[in-house]
Amino acid sequence: MQIAHDNRKPLNAYEQEYLAWYKGKSLSHAHAKTMANRKDLERTQRCGCIHCERVFHPTLIIDWIPDQRGDTAECPFCGLDAILPDGVGFPITAEFIRKMKQAYFY
Ligand SMILES: [Zn+2]
Repeated sequence: MQIAHDNRKPLNAYEQEYLAWYKGKSLSHAHAKTMANRKDLERTQRCGCIHCERVFHPTLIIDWIPDQRGDTAECPFCGLDAILPDGVGFPITAEFIRKMKQAYFY
């Protein structure tokens, strides 16, 4: 017996990001998004710090490191330049942020 499965339903943005991750976009690709990320952060409602693991609204960011490719955000909680914006191809979930932390801060 075949299990009913609706392939016609489009994936939402969140599911697409998970899929990109599982398809093997490397963590270094995600790490690159923690730099020169001002434009990405201005376009989204959410971001996560891969150092202190907090998820928050980008308007909380007040300090930026100047970069000719675009300013880099500093985390308002821990002060590190380790903020991953939502909407750039990676899930802002506790699981993914923990994985990034293990890769870059342990
Ligand atoms: Zn932080």
